[in-house]
Amino acid sequence: MYSDLNGKVAVVTGGSKGIGNAIAKRFGNEHMSVVINYHSDEAGAQKAADAVEAEGGRAVIVQADISTEEGAEALLKAAVDNFGGLDVWVNNAGMEIKSPTHESTLDDWKKVTAVDQTGVFLGSKTALNYFVANQKKGNIINMSSVHEQIPWPTFASYAAAKGSVKLFTKTIAMEYADRNIRVNGIGPGAINTPINAEKFADKKQYDKTVSMVPMNRIGTPEEVAAGAAWLASDESSYVTGITLFIDGGMTLYPAFKDGEG
Ligand code: NAD
Repeated sequence: MYSDLNGKVAVVTGGSKGIGNAIAKRFGNEHMSVVINYHSDEAGAQKAADAVEAEGGRAVIVQADISTEEGAEALLKAAVDNFGGLDVWVNNAGMEIKSPTHESTLDDWKKVTAVDQTGVFLGSKTALNYFVANQKKGNIINMSSVHEQIPWPTFASYAAAKGSVKLFTKTIAMEYADRNIRVNGIGPGAINTPINAEKFADKKQYDKTVSMVPMNRIGTPEEVAAGAAWLASDESSYVTGITLFIDGGMTLYPAFKDGEG
């Protein structure tokens, strides 16, 4: 546990399931107050809120579409109204659509980039606005992916959005560093969450994914949440503008594992 997190206020977008859910719970364990954003799964968000409170934190759930300005504003308002301010904003919400690029529709491209890219801009902008206006030390964590670095055929919109998140994170980290605002990314590898449920249910695809991980296993949402807690805490006080890969070594070019090539 990180004692400086006790009593801090966080917003977690897309917190009803998967990695966002695990981050909310971990923040509860750190005795933080958490605004848990959900898009459609109210029951999942409420379960997450109950878990946060069971861990010793405080929680409120807020329905909002993070790809809209009103959505981001509603989350900030919930943090201020319910918990008196904001310390940490986690842009976690994300989605992907698989499609060969030459067959992809503009609508699908817009859907993915609206959440994975524009949502990160809107969440960051809203948090930065609050931190600057209140001259507050602030912390932003953007959920990227190993696919900010590794190309991903048939998921071009996702890879393009995550590549954008990488440089957006570095840019605003530099822009706000001297105002005591830290901005970092997390790049998960293959993590066991609903986004992968269908893929991992297929043994062939599951085994293929594991074969791309030097540590030979799929990661857990809690392992990603541990990275978020560290980045949110003062233990990482001199860290800004990085992507913390939590990927079992997936970004280490595993095809070279045998020393051939
Ligand atoms: P998930 O599908 O379990 O959760 C995604 C969450 O985002 C859901 O709660 C969903 O409702 C929410 N969301 C989607 N659109 C939204 C919108 N417009 N407004 C608000 N919320 C919205 O997926 P996950 O695996 O938990 O993914 C979380 C993040 O981690 C994503 O950004 C994803 O790209 C990233 N990631 C995941 C993996 C993995 O292997 N699971 C790997 C790399 C990166």
